[in-house]
Amino acid sequence: MNDFHFHAPETIEEAAALLVQHDGNAKLIAGGTALTTLLKQSLVQPEHLVSLHRVKGHDAITHSEGALHIGALATQRAVEKSDVVKKHAPLLAEAYRRVATVRIRNVATVGGGIAHADPAMDPPPSLLILGASVKLMSAKGERTVALSELYVDYYETTMEPDEIVTELEVPDQPAGTAWTYIKYLPRTEDDYATVSVAAIGELKDGMVADVRVGLGALGPTAIRASALEDAVRGTSPTHESLKEASQSVMDIVDPIDDPRGSAGYKRDMSAVFARRAMEQVLGVATG
Ligand SMILES: Cc1cc2nc3c(=O)[nH]c(=O)nc-3n(C[C@H](O)[C@H](O)[C@H](O)COP(=O)(O)OP(=O)(O)OC[C@H]3O[C@@H](n4cnc5c(N)ncnc54)[C@H](O)[C@@H]3O)c2cc1C
Repeated sequence: MNDFHFHAPETIEEAAALLVQHDGNAKLIAGGTALTTLLKQSLVQPEHLVSLHRVKGHDAITHSEGALHIGALATQRAVEKSDVVKKHAPLLAEAYRRVATVRIRNVATVGGGIAHADPAMDPPPSLLILGASVKLMSAKGERTVALSELYVDYYETTMEPDEIVTELEVPDQPAGTAWTYIKYLPRTEDDYATVSVAAIGELKDGMVADVRVGLGALGPTAIRASALEDAVRGTSPTHESLKEASQSVMDIVDPIDDPRGSAGYKRDMSAVFARRAMEQVLGVATG
């Protein structure tokens, strides 16, 4: 690990100024759960670390105007335990509950998790189907980016190096929808997913009024299975029809071989878990 200068600003504005001052040579550190590993392996070698641990505020979890507002410095454990999140987006509380271990969730922040951009992380599939967006600030000002526009590749986002995630905004889960988050991990309970699927759905008079499916760990970024949703919406679902429709996700995933499974296995499992997730949220018995 390289030597670095450690800065501990007390406000988010000071942190933003430090990123500008050390243009390109500074990295933010929040909980440090991901960054410490990258530093130890010399995968990142910043000359300056700008810590957010002394920054006050930016950790509230509130609800207004039909959306959750989650401060970037809230811990992932706080999101999992929040009654406000459980009330307005229970799917999201469950997605955060499945991240790693309690020890990691007690330290890892929401903003660090968003910025880390590992495609196997648990929250993004749910955040995508709920239509979440992130607020970014820098010395130049603020902007809001839809989560669907944030991730571009493995560990790559559309954020500028001097931007700080300050808030996650998540519209309410539509009333009356059933939800599920399936995290398939054949190794240990605290591992990253081999395949993950988040879904919400609603039946009205036996027909699919709403269905949304998000996929994780199946390519460079989490993705939404829009073609599958379109094929299923408005139909009267059965095990066979959902099985047939789910085959389409194998065309949009792009997994890699890794210790969690071969690319071929993950591709096959993407269709299996997409079908199971839809069966759960649409109340269809597994055949
Ligand atoms: C052993 C282990 C197991 C894990 N398993 C899972 C799992 O099963 N599922 C899962 O989803 N995740 C898992 N994780 C990842 C975990 O969720 C991340 O480590 C965590 O979300 C990062 O948050 P942090 O606050 O610690 O970020 P840090 O490690 O401090 O930072 C991570 C990155 O985000 C940047 N950053 C931090 N805060 C901000 C901000 N506010 N604005 C902009 N950039 C910022 C940093 O510069 C760095 O690039 C695991 C991690 C470990 C170590």
